Amino acid sequence: MTDATNPARPLERKRLRTALLDFFDARARPLPWRDTDDPYAIWVSEIMLQQTRVETVIPYWERWMARYPDVEALATADESEVLKAWEGLGYYSRARNLREGAAVVRDRFGGEVPATVDELREVPGIGPYTAGAVASIAFGVATPAVDGNVRRVLARLFDEPNPTAAWLRDRASELVDPDRPGDFNQALMELGATVCTPSSPNCAGCPVAPMCAALSAGTVDERPAPKRRKPVPERDIVVIAACAEMSDGWRVAMRRRPTDGLLGGMWEFPEWEHDHDPPRADALPEVGHVFSHFRATYRPFVMEVVPEPSTDRAADIAEDIPVRPPLGSPLLGPDGAEPDEPRWIHSAEFGDLALPVAQRKIAGFVRDWLAGRGFAS
Ligand code: SF4
Repeated sequence: MTDATNPARPLERKRLRTALLDFFDARARPLPWRDTDDPYAIWVSEIMLQQTRVETVIPYWERWMARYPDVEALATADESEVLKAWEGLGYYSRARNLREGAAVVRDRFGGEVPATVDELREVPGIGPYTAGAVASIAFGVATPAVDGNVRRVLARLFDEPNPTAAWLRDRASELVDPDRPGDFNQALMELGATVCTPSSPNCAGCPVAPMCAALSAGTVDERPAPKRRKPVPERDIVVIAACAEMSDGWRVAMRRRPTDGLLGGMWEFPEWEHDHDPPRADALPEVGHVFSHFRATYRPFVMEVVPEPSTDRAADIAEDIPVRPPLGSPLLGPDGAEPDEPRWIHSAEFGDLALPVAQRKIAGFVRDWLAGRGFAS
């Protein structure tokens, strides 16, 4: 990069802002949350978009806004219903934080989403990126919002192999357009999502190509340098679906996970704690799932049990079916908090429970197994 093409120089900065805003005006994808200046709606979209593709988010956001149209509606909503509405988006702590954040906005900010970055940061679940995005898009605050797309674009524009958080914040702060900060931040994100993509960026169709230092240096493919990733641990998790025929049909033992921690508040089939597979059980298809810090292969088994006739609890099912997870299980809550005792769930109620994606697939196999035995819910 020569000094003359440095986007941080005032002249280049102006050129770059104009090119990006023109690009945004002409080529930005029409997304439903771009049609509103409601800070709550924008906040919801930003939380949903973390780690999740735009196409996936659109129907979730539309359903969410119909069901929880404002802070008050979300703050007073039942947590299990909120998790159910989030089902399939993953990273469920985002949903719990969003609901908790709505309560904080209601109680501490009089129901109005705060307009400054500092106050936004006081809301649970809002980090530096989301605070910058909401402040700039909803309130026109000239502050940066650096997500993964922006990181890549800036690293290439400046030909910086290892952009640190401080470096990115400084560059993004220098560049953000003071008159249209929200559009500018979205333009950088949009460029990263649609033009300056991780592999095969479309430099020939890029509006800021004349100012791109990595393009002129021939280092686009090396910017930013790939992060060194630790190997992802892999874990086998055997789960058991204990099914019992009761007066109203077949029911299955399921339990709710602790509220805090991984998949908090969601429902699941209990884990099998032995190092041998469950006896007298049928193996169901394996289900793989990638968590942020490990890769799980669920090996589900299903079996018929005879419950205690006088109870609706599933904790008393046959003695050889442990329903508590082993200590050290990767799916235990923080501090080893254990899930609730299992309860007998009618298979017709699977659809009403907040189930993580892998558990929902297993529930489908259990339903098929029950249908194969002549029971259809
Ligand atoms: Fe990215 Fe290529 Fe545009 Fe540079 S010229 S910002 S590398 S798409």
